[in-house]
Amino acid sequence: MLLHYLAFYLFPKDHSGSAEFRKFRRQLFHSSLEHILSSLRPHMTSPHITLCPDGHYRRVIYGLGPYIADYPEQALLTCIVQNWCPRCTAPPDNLDSNSGRRSHKHTDTLSEGCTLKELWDDYGIVADLRPFTASFPQADIHELISPDLLHQLIKGTFKDHLVEWVFEYLDLTYPKKESEERKADIDRCIATTTPYPGLQNFHEGRLTPDTSLPSRNSSPKLPHLIPLPRHSRRARRSVRSFATSHPYIFTSSHLRIFGLMKIFLPAIVGHVPLEMVRAIHDFLEFCYLARCDVIDEDTLAKMDSILKDFHRHREIFWTTGVRPDGFSLPRQHSMVHYRHLIQQFGAPNGLCSSITESKHIKAVKRPWRRSSKHNALGQMLLTNQRLDKLATYRANQPPPPPPLPSDDPDDAEEGPSDEPYSQGDVKLSKKAAPGVPRALPDLAKYINQPALPLLIRQFLYNQYNPDSPNLLKISVYFSTHLPAPHSLPQVTCQA
Ligand SMILES: [Zn+2]
Repeated sequence: MLLHYLAFYLFPKDHSGSAEFRKFRRQLFHSSLEHILSSLRPHMTSPHITLCPDGHYRRVIYGLGPYIADYPEQALLTCIVQNWCPRCTAPPDNLDSNSGRRSHKHTDTLSEGCTLKELWDDYGIVADLRPFTASFPQADIHELISPDLLHQLIKGTFKDHLVEWVFEYLDLTYPKKESEERKADIDRCIATTTPYPGLQNFHEGRLTPDTSLPSRNSSPKLPHLIPLPRHSRRARRSVRSFATSHPYIFTSSHLRIFGLMKIFLPAIVGHVPLEMVRAIHDFLEFCYLARCDVIDEDTLAKMDSILKDFHRHREIFWTTGVRPDGFSLPRQHSMVHYRHLIQQFGAPNGLCSSITESKHIKAVKRPWRRSSKHNALGQMLLTNQRLDKLATYRANQPPPPPPLPSDDPDDAEEGPSDEPYSQGDVKLSKKAAPGVPRALPDLAKYINQPALPLLIRQFLYNQYNPDSPNLLKISVYFSTHLPAPHSLPQVTCQA
C-alpha cells in the first residue's frame, strides 16, 4: 500500500555533504514514517472496530506488513552500513557465510556494551539512527524487508553481475580483436533469435547501459541496443518513441532484460567455459522458480539445491580472474534469504519494486514534465493535488442511468439516433488513408453520404452551443458501408 510521498528539498552542496546533514536527512525519513503510521499504534495492541469492504464490522488489530525497497533504501531503512546485509549479521567480505539474524533486540543488546564506532565497524550498524519500526509493537524492519525480484535478481544478479562478468571474461582471456569478434558473435546470436511467442527480439544485439543518448535530467535512463550509432536520429527517435509509448517505462525496460535472460544462455555457449554456462543456467533456473505464482515445499527444496550449484559453479569467475574479490555482493547474497522470505510472505512474483517505480512515474516524473522546470516542486505538488481532487470527484459521481429498453423494433442499434446527444467514441486512424479525398464535398461523394457537410456543421454547432435552445438534431450513422472501414474514423454510438 502506498502511504505517502516524502518531498525533500535540495539543500546547498556545502550543507548536503556534511555528516550531520546526512544523519539529519536519514532520521527525518524515519521520523516522517513513524509520524505517518502513528495513528495505527494504539490499535496494534487493542482491537479497533472497523467497517470492512464486505459491509460487516470487525475487531481489527493492525500490523506493519512487508516493505518493498531496493538495496540502498533497505540499508537506509534498517540503519546498516553499505555492503552489509539488512537481514543477517554476515560480514561484508563473506556475506554468504552462516550468521545470525538481525533484529531490534540484537541491536539494543549490542548498543549496551559497544561504542558507536565498534557497532559501525564490527556489526555494520548505524547506531545513532533509530528505525521507524522501533517504536511500534510487534514490528521489526529486519523482518519486514521483502524480496525484490527486479533489483535483486533480474537487474542486479543477471544484468549488472553475470552479463557484465561474461564480457569481462572475454576481455581478460582473449586479445582485443578476438574479444570483440566473440562479443559481436554473441550479439549476432541474440539478434537472430527466431520469432516465437514469449521471446523478445533484439534486432541489434544485447542490452547495454545508454551512453550515447542526449542526457536530460527529466528523462528516465533507458537501456538500448548496441551497436547503436552515436549520432543516429532514427535510433534516438526509436528509443524516445519507445519511452513515450510505454507509460510504465521502468517496468517495460526491465521486462526487456528479462527477455534477454531467455536467449542469453545459448548465445554464449562456445565462447565461455562450460562451468560459466552452468553457473548462469543455475541462476536462471533459480530465477524462474522464484517467479512461479505457486511455490510449494518441493519448489523450495529445488531452489536450495540450485542455489548450492550456483554458488559452486560461479567460482569459475573467481578462478579466471573476473571476480578477484569474491562474491560478497548484497543483491546476489539476498538469494540465500529467499526460502525464509517466501515462507513468510508467499511467492514473490508480483511483490516487486516495479510497483513503486510505476507509482514514482505517475507521482513524480509526469508532474515534473508538466511543470515549467523552474521551482518545480510547488507546481508538481499542485498538479498532484488537482489530479487527486479530480479522481475523488469522479469517484463520487453517481453512475450514469442505464439506457431505457425500447419496444420499437425499428429502433435497432443501427440507424439514426433521435437523441440530442450521442455518447459516441471516435477513433481516428493514425495515418491518412491512401486514395481517400481530403476535400469535404469529394469525401461526401466517396463515402456515398451527400449530407456529410451539413452533418458536420450541425455537429460543430452543437459542440460550441450546448445550451442553445435551437439545438440541432444530429443523425449518427455507422460506418459499416464505408469502402475502407479500417482506414476511416470508426463511429460507435450508445443512444
Ligand atoms: Zn543476509
